Amino acid sequence: MRVLRAQAMGMCFGVKDALEKVMGLPQPNEVTVYGQLVHNGEVTRRLEEKGISMVEESDRSPSILKSRVVLTAHGVSDRERLALRNEGKTLIDTTCPLVRRVHELAKDFAKRGYFVVIIGRKDHVEVKGLTGDLEKFAVVENPEDVRIYEADRIGILCQTTTPPALLDRLFQKIARRNFGKEIRFVDTICRPTRERQEAVEELLARVDALVVVGGKNSNNTRQLSLLAQSRHVPSFQVEKEGELNPDWFKGFETIGLTAGTSTLDETIEAVYQALVSLEAAVIK
Ligand code: SF4
Repeated sequence: MRVLRAQAMGMCFGVKDALEKVMGLPQPNEVTVYGQLVHNGEVTRRLEEKGISMVEESDRSPSILKSRVVLTAHGVSDRERLALRNEGKTLIDTTCPLVRRVHELAKDFAKRGYFVVIIGRKDHVEVKGLTGDLEKFAVVENPEDVRIYEADRIGILCQTTTPPALLDRLFQKIARRNFGKEIRFVDTICRPTRERQEAVEELLARVDALVVVGGKNSNNTRQLSLLAQSRHVPSFQVEKEGELNPDWFKGFETIGLTAGTSTLDETIEAVYQALVSLEAAVIK
């Protein structure tokens, strides 16, 4: 059994920078991370060990926050930022510059009178942050969400981790249903997401099955598994090497390995080594 690694995989610069900043903070006992810094159980455990507290994205009540609050790479709306400052919190901002760019574009569209359509997951924290400062907007997650919007000018953006093929499909449908209107579109998929998706596309043509390493609630990790499914390649998502099951790989000759943008390099390496050592255990 051979194990092939994707050309691009694992932690992106946005998450790495955020993590480095938070791990280096003085007086960690006075810090609360406002949501999940990354959707990765191992990272969460290390933050807790350091004494940094965290609140769930669904439970961001100011009353349970410590005096210094870390805004995650996913970003928040200006309204939410202001509300936290009004509560007397000192903000440590780790918003990814590529998410910040989407906020600026959305505000600019709104200022110029465009109805803003965000292609992305309605319940995702990044999308909630993007729409939090907009008066009129729509979020499109799947083809059924697409409407004829009551506006002559439509500005379309997307969540940074949207799969390119899905973005294309949804954009085409919005444009078709709103034919004749002025439509502006900026593709805001971030480069690391695009590189990881392209690397998996390339890998899927050469493997019998794919192992995806990443948090169970990580959007981009899930998208990598879905991409494999759409190509009818069996995929197995694990958070760490101990979750690998030798039975999964019986009869396969070539296994691909990829990882979401919140996965630590050392976790990827541990899964790779475990896969290579499984070779002897797997009965072909
Ligand atoms: S996935 Fe993209 S947008 Fe999100 S933190 Fe990483 S680089 Fe930034």
